[in-house]
Amino acid sequence: LLEVTDLRKSFGDQEVLRDIDFTVEQGTVTVLLGPSGSGKTTVLRSLNALEVPDAGVVRIEDVEVDFGQARSRRDADRDLARLRRQSAMVFQAHHLFPHRTVLQNLTEGPIHAQGRPEAEVVPEARVLLEQVGLADREDAYPSQLSGGQQQRVGIARALALKPRLMLFDEPTSALDPELVGEVLGVMKDLAAEGWTMVVVTHEIRFAQQVADQVLFLDDGVIAERGPASQVIEDPREARTRQFLHRIL
Ligand code: ATP
Repeated sequence: LLEVTDLRKSFGDQEVLRDIDFTVEQGTVTVLLGPSGSGKTTVLRSLNALEVPDAGVVRIEDVEVDFGQARSRRDADRDLARLRRQSAMVFQAHHLFPHRTVLQNLTEGPIHAQGRPEAEVVPEARVLLEQVGLADREDAYPSQLSGGQQQRVGIARALALKPRLMLFDEPTSALDPELVGEVLGVMKDLAAEGWTMVVVTHEIRFAQQVADQVLFLDDGVIAERGPASQVIEDPREARTRQFLHRIL
């Protein structure tokens, strides 16, 4: 479903990603692990062009963008917009519309950005709220919810866009420890339903239970990759072992 080839990105003269290659099969979960500053978030944001790489190709199903290719501004913008529509991102925190209700947070994108009819979008949004366990909070405002509930609204809002690919950028790292489980639980349900997901997280147990593929990033490159049972339980690279040793 997703194919990334030779992605490269620098900020100023600091090269933060190089030689990034990987594929993600439909219906699988990929977890990006790695030390702070290794480039995980930049990889994730490149997948939906929130960050524009300097070179490399990202293909999601039939939409392919070659970032290194010279194009007119208009063609480039059109390609980026098409790529963005293929995926939806769940951020760390503080990304809900504060002056919109929970239900409006879900329906805003489908109605205003995708131009879909309200009569269709609203019932679908209610099904999603049910799915994340918030059916009774549709009229609440984000500030009236716990952090874990807000993140579950964030997940439902991303699902409401009907993306091909779900992207998660450390979705539990800003939460109090007792709220982490409810968010990971929703993510496990999505994985079981067959959603294709790419997840940046430090939740090793989640990775062990749910990931089909683990990519370990270090200093801008994928230093090790494989099933969780190998990368986490039997790492081959010294830097993977050091990282796991530090966080476990
Ligand atoms: P963390 O776990 O701390 O979020 P990360 O592995 O996700 O780290 P990135 O956020 O992708 O790492 O950052 C990789 C490197 O790129 C870091 O050195 C960071 O300082 C740098 N960087 C990221 N975004 C920018 C930016 N907009 N401008 C300049 N440098 C940036």
